[in-house]
Amino acid sequence: MFFHGTSRVNDKGHLEIGGVDAVELAKEYGTPLYIYDVALIRQRARAFKEAFEKHGVKAQVAYASKAFSTMAMIQLVEEEGLSLDVVSGGELYTALKAGFPPARIHFHGNNKSRDELAMALEHGVGCIVVDNFYELELLDDLSKQYGVTTFILLRVTPGIEAHTHDYILTGQEDSKFGFDLNNGQADEALEKALASASLHVLGLHCHIGSQIFETTGFVLAAQKIFKKIGSWKEKYKFVPEVVNLGGGFGIRYTSEDDPIPAAMYVEQIIQEVKKQVIEMDITMPEIWIEPGRSLVGDAGTTIYSIGSQKEVPNVRKYVAVDGGMSDNIRPALYEAKYEAVLANRMLDENEEVVAIAGKCCESGDMLIWDLPLPKAEAGDYLAVFCTGAYGYSMANNYNRIPRPAVVFVENGEAQLVVKRETYEDLVRLDVPLKAKVNK
Ligand SMILES: *Cc1c(COP(=O)(O)O)cnc(C)c1O
Repeated sequence: MFFHGTSRVNDKGHLEIGGVDAVELAKEYGTPLYIYDVALIRQRARAFKEAFEKHGVKAQVAYASKAFSTMAMIQLVEEEGLSLDVVSGGELYTALKAGFPPARIHFHGNNKSRDELAMALEHGVGCIVVDNFYELELLDDLSKQYGVTTFILLRVTPGIEAHTHDYILTGQEDSKFGFDLNNGQADEALEKALASASLHVLGLHCHIGSQIFETTGFVLAAQKIFKKIGSWKEKYKFVPEVVNLGGGFGIRYTSEDDPIPAAMYVEQIIQEVKKQVIEMDITMPEIWIEPGRSLVGDAGTTIYSIGSQKEVPNVRKYVAVDGGMSDNIRPALYEAKYEAVLANRMLDENEEVVAIAGKCCESGDMLIWDLPLPKAEAGDYLAVFCTGAYGYSMANNYNRIPRPAVVFVENGEAQLVVKRETYEDLVRLDVPLKAKVNK
């Protein structure tokens, strides 16, 4: 087992995060409960920013808010001076409600609606990452209607797909996202955008995957993009002000994962971009990146209460918790792996290997298949590490399970930042049958 950030064992033998006893938090706020280590989020944010500053490279580090989008989180991102990615009207609304400066918001997505784009223009969102021809037309039209110049990046698919330790080079990228870099689509998109008096093309964007542990994919993507930039310089006299290489930086979910530090990705990216810029004899563009998971993933811990257990003789023991795929769908969706401990018995020796089951009516609702633990009893608290990204943001109400509360901890203080859903919340939008209304 390893600890993330400020997590440690306190003198009661309990898990402590941000100087706060996690067991006390579970008792106060109930379970399941997401706890975020704010100091660790700040540390991650600063590491990305400082890596660029060290090299004197103009950059924007945009937090991909889809990883965990709540008002408090967005305010924290603002405090740390990062930019923000949103991918829907809902994420944009959350950001605006949180008071995030619109000029530092970048709007992504492969099917933004006219209403969503209008909302972005009305609020002065700083950059729209245009994904397809339909959007290009919508945006041109809307920008004219609003009488504004809209700053855009063109999202391209460079034909590289990176996943964890593998990256795949595909000639013809089969992806729902972006303009193909190789078949002429990207050139056509640039021509159209340059022809519009209402659109200002800042540059290109690509995002090659998620949970990537190597720098190779980013370097390859940069090479492909700059090859295109070279041809655009010749053909259109176009030189980008911005090159955005996306997110996807890997984190350590279990002791089998061995991520490289943020700074190493950034250094490799900077090195490659500088090399290309010299070769092409163009001005150094700003480099933008978009970490999501790597900013919040290991800062999040979920605390559950243990309930029932079932022994399948000679096969395994199921230990059930009071949440599951409703608050963490990643194991069911991607066979994602996690590590966990008994938060109230951190000093006890592990005695058996158990399977951690959720409480949803779905056999696939398993959080961990083989977890070494002390002999757990009903009422013990299970802490699952590294649930900060795509946990709460993918939480759902399957089986009408209310979504958990979220607490931020820092310097010995806890702050509730999302309330636990109530049963009333669950039926709030339901409209009863007319005949029953007055009864
Ligand atoms: C999801 C996404 C990210 C963030 O990915 P992480 O793996 O969470 O870092 C960044 N950019 C784009 C365009 C994305 O879709």
